[in-house]
Amino acid sequence: MRGAAAAPVGRTVAVRVGALTVGGGAPVSVQSMTKTDTRDVGATVRQLRALERAGCQIGRVAVPDRGALEAFARIRGKVSLPLVADIHFDHRLAIACIAAGADKVRINPGNIGGTARMQEVALRAQERGCAIRVGVNAGSLEREIAAKHGGATPAALVESAQRAVRDLEAVGFTAIVVSLKASSVPHTIAAYRLAARALRYPLHLGVTEAGFGLAGIVKSSVGMGTLLADGIGDTLRVSLTDSPLVEVRVGREILASLGLRREGVEIVSCPTCGRCGVDLRRTARAVARALADVAEPLTVAVMGCPVNGPGEAKAADVGLAGGRGKAVIFARGQVLKTVPESRMIAALTGAVREEAARRRRARGRG
Ligand code: SF4
Repeated sequence: MRGAAAAPVGRTVAVRVGALTVGGGAPVSVQSMTKTDTRDVGATVRQLRALERAGCQIGRVAVPDRGALEAFARIRGKVSLPLVADIHFDHRLAIACIAAGADKVRINPGNIGGTARMQEVALRAQERGCAIRVGVNAGSLEREIAAKHGGATPAALVESAQRAVRDLEAVGFTAIVVSLKASSVPHTIAAYRLAARALRYPLHLGVTEAGFGLAGIVKSSVGMGTLLADGIGDTLRVSLTDSPLVEVRVGREILASLGLRREGVEIVSCPTCGRCGVDLRRTARAVARALADVAEPLTVAVMGCPVNGPGEAKAADVGLAGGRGKAVIFARGQVLKTVPESRMIAALTGAVREEAARRRRARGRG
């Protein structure tokens, strides 16, 4: 029973999803799911490409019926992003999506129709190098497991995942990723903590039905952030009643806040107070917008006054400390120059681009 063997928390095997590696110490990847009607191939392809440009690393598409299946085959030919087919109820759709080139299929052990069908999917996936996500959901748990545990408890979710993993392993299939979606943040955290001890496969993090707006972002950040800070989680999807581009942005910010995302600019900006000498709210937003295309991992401080400004600006890769109507620009801990407020955004973004270019050159020489 390899799937239930105890493993050090956070240690998972590596699973290939297209060109991407999930688990095994690979950087935590961000995924999202299209919200178009899958049968609308043009709209779905446009959304997947927009997701890829926004930093999404795995795209998932719902395949609820034969019409969506035909569309999935055409979509597959038009996008390079690793693609997951999301399947419920009908294992034949999963098999057909594997034949159409899916990099991973998501199946729900609670509704796919039992061991034999799951194993049939696994055998086809094995032939094609396709991964399988065992997506356990509190709302559709196997009846006998829920009855045994008195409901969809964290232990019940993990037992459902372990049973599915054993079924897959029984036919020699090990390209497995597991998710456990519970109804609340505390239950989700408890379920993943149990799973991290019980399973050696990569964990796909998610807080299901998180909602929208600030509440949805907070729930997702607290749920996933708590687990990631403990070293649990190999890939994540933020689920919001919003554009999938927002989901990707939030996912990337969660990783950046924990130092788990190693590309792009991280802005450190102060909350401002009565000492602030420049228009910092506008400045911080303008700087973030202007540097959205910078891929180098750089910390950029945008600070309002001489209290904490110089310290934070020196500690960052590049920084700005405001004063009365002027700002001091820092790079690599040294003062570069002092500029009037009207020129500070251009001076800071210019210094960031120079630093990014310097690092690229240094890597080229190395
Ligand atoms: Fe206030 Fe200065 Fe601190 Fe910003 S850096 S919060 S302006 S004291």
